[in-house]
Amino acid sequence: MSSYDVIVIGSGPGGYVCAIRAAQLGMKVACVEKRETLGGTCLNIGCIPSKALLSASEKYHEAHGKMETMGIKMTGVKLDLKAMMKFKDGVVGDNTKGIEFLFKKNKVDWLKGAGKLLGGGKVDVDGKAYDAKNIIIATGSDVISLPGIEIDEKKIVSSTGALELDKVPGSMAVIGGGVIGLEMASVWSRLGAKVSVIEFMDEILPGMDDEVRKESRKIFSKQGMDFKVSTKVTSAKSSAKGVDITMEPAKGGAEEKLSVDILLVAVGRKPYTDALGLDKAGVETDDRGRIKTDAHFKTNVDGVYAIGDVIAGPMLAHKAEEEGVVLAEMLAGQSGHIDYNLIPGVVYTWPEVANIGKTEAQLKEEGVAYKAGKFPFMANGRARAMGDTEGFVKILADAKTDRVLGCHIIGPEAGTLIAEVAAVMEFGGSAEDIARTCHAHPTLEEVIKEAALAVHGRPIHI
Ligand SMILES: Cc1cc2nc3c(=O)[nH]c(=O)nc-3n(C[C@H](O)[C@H](O)[C@H](O)COP(=O)(O)OP(=O)(O)OC[C@H]3O[C@@H](n4cnc5c(N)ncnc54)[C@H](O)[C@@H]3O)c2cc1C
Repeated sequence: MSSYDVIVIGSGPGGYVCAIRAAQLGMKVACVEKRETLGGTCLNIGCIPSKALLSASEKYHEAHGKMETMGIKMTGVKLDLKAMMKFKDGVVGDNTKGIEFLFKKNKVDWLKGAGKLLGGGKVDVDGKAYDAKNIIIATGSDVISLPGIEIDEKKIVSSTGALELDKVPGSMAVIGGGVIGLEMASVWSRLGAKVSVIEFMDEILPGMDDEVRKESRKIFSKQGMDFKVSTKVTSAKSSAKGVDITMEPAKGGAEEKLSVDILLVAVGRKPYTDALGLDKAGVETDDRGRIKTDAHFKTNVDGVYAIGDVIAGPMLAHKAEEEGVVLAEMLAGQSGHIDYNLIPGVVYTWPEVANIGKTEAQLKEEGVAYKAGKFPFMANGRARAMGDTEGFVKILADAKTDRVLGCHIIGPEAGTLIAEVAAVMEFGGSAEDIARTCHAHPTLEEVIKEAALAVHGRPIHI
């Protein structure tokens, strides 16, 4: 029987990063993956293909309006959806093959097939048993639907089907105004679909800063999306023409009907542990099916660990990666720590939305005295030069110590801009630290600096 120091089950960003880091630290490592390609949800049907379609559709959209305002006349711009999908598939292929290369480089064995815990430090991969001192479950997550709504990936699709449509729907409804729903709504709306987003809560992007949430709905509405908030879908049935949806106010009330060509269900994801043998190995899960772990990613079974979407915490690729690195280092005898408050969240719409740390609502609830500084992109030279003036940066700092407690951005390149604040927060820095740091001119980063100055009531350019 082959034996390893570490067997990782699942090759998503949690699993493959953990496997590579463990190999770098001198361990003999294998990674089990049942998909034909490595990289998990993120590389195959998540982050990467969605960003490829977001980039491509954004360019198409720009060619239809914004470019003209900059003096570039475009005539005969046409969409070749097949070619756009080929571009997206190419990006996915390059990335997944990249992981294969990294596995070879780091001498990580890819055990192709479905992994199953056999108990006693053993893993079965399609009928062959392997021994491991440490087993790491990184099996990720899967889509969920609503009761009575069956995803067929043709007319009623999950994000996976929404990344594969073979023609632009005339109309599309999206259940769920969260990150994935809004990103896919942006893609298909830019390509010409009439998109309606149906959200149960009273505002889109639940959990984010309230002002950002309001502003984002305003901006996306202007882009042509229709929003039905405080609304719940009670049924959705495929018809000869498309999908018939019935909805009602979240608190109850008169029914409303909507018929669309395509319905995207984007109401969240669930941990994926199917056929993994958790029962046999005695690994405990919580009431939401997530594998229970302690702060060191240990399950209740000795030598079995879990990371990524399959455990508690935000379902984000970079959260899974951080956990993979920290766990590998702990297994090598080092110490590690993740500050879950400092995991940035990004929505890759245009403008982008990004956040880190606490929201104003959370600080109020926790009774923390804070100061807020806000600065609009409208007053930034570079944003004007780019023709991207919507949105703002808001920085929240402790009223006494000035330590940065949170940052909330809606605006161009928000996902890139948030990295500066993440680094400052990692070092326990203050708004004054950001304000005193020289920022190149003219850049979008100057909006971060001005928001930090605004914390102390002294922005220069407004
Ligand atoms: C449309 C979409 C867009 C997204 N965009 C972003 C984004 O922009 N940024 C971001 O941070 N996150 C994004 N996410 C979330 C991100 O993809 C996940 O948080 C991330 O992939 C989780 O990584 P993971 O390693 O825990 O698991 P996964 O990536 O889900 O990988 C798990 C792997 O385990 C394999 N597996 C499962 N069971 C077994 C078994 N028994 N044997 C062998 N293999 C098995 C699966 O085949 C899969 O390949 C997006 C998700 C979706 C769906």
